[in-house]
Amino acid sequence: MNIILFGPPGAGKGTQAKFLMNKLKCFQISTGEILRNEIKSDTNIGKKIINDMNDGKFVSDEIVNNLIKKIVFDPKKKGKLIFDGYPRSLSQAKNLDLLLDDSKQVINLIFFLNVNKETIIKRIEKRKVLEKRSDDSLNTILKRYDTYMETTKPVLDYYSKNLNFHEIDGTQEIDEITRKIETFINV
Ligand code: AMP
Repeated sequence: MNIILFGPPGAGKGTQAKFLMNKLKCFQISTGEILRNEIKSDTNIGKKIINDMNDGKFVSDEIVNNLIKKIVFDPKKKGKLIFDGYPRSLSQAKNLDLLLDDSKQVINLIFFLNVNKETIIKRIEKRKVLEKRSDDSLNTILKRYDTYMETTKPVLDYYSKNLNFHEIDGTQEIDEITRKIETFINV
C-alpha cells in the first residue's frame, strides 16, 4: 500500500508514519529526515541546503525530486511507500504522479492531518526539547508554517478531489488519530 501523509509541520505525520510503517511493513519516506541526514553527513547536497533548511524555507524541487525518484524506483520499496513531508508543492505532486505512473504504482490513501497554528507551536516547542532539531526555533517554526500554508494549499486542492483523500482532525490525541487512520486500512 502506498500512502501520503499530508499536513503542516508538527501535525503528527512522522508519528503516524512510524505507526503505519510497523503495521504495514512499509517504508517511511520522510524528506525532512533525508535532508537533515545530508546535512549531518556534510554531503554536497547538505552544503547546498543547510541555509534554506535552517531558515525554514523549502529545499529546491530539483534536489527533493531527485531524492524521491531513487526511492520510488527502488524495487524493494515498490508498493510500500509512506510519504511523510512529500509532496509539499503542486510541482512535487505532479512529479510524484509521473514517477508513480512510470513505475506502475498508485497512491492508495491520502491523509490530511489538519491542525491549527496554536497547536503546532505548542507541539514543536515540545519536540525541540526532546529531539534538539536545529530548525525548530520559534521563528523558524512560524516561517515553516507560513511557507507550508502558502505553497501547500494548491496541493490540498489537487488531492482533495481524490476519492482516497481523507481529512483527519490532527488536534486530537495521537491514539485517536491512529485509530481513525486504522479504519481506512483493512488488513
Ligand atoms: P519536515 O521534517 O518534514 O518538517 O521538514 C523539515 C524541513 O525540510 C522543511 O522545513 C524544509 O526546509 C525541508 N523539506 C522537507 N521536505 C521537503 C519537501 N518535500 N520539499 C522541500 N523542502 C522540504
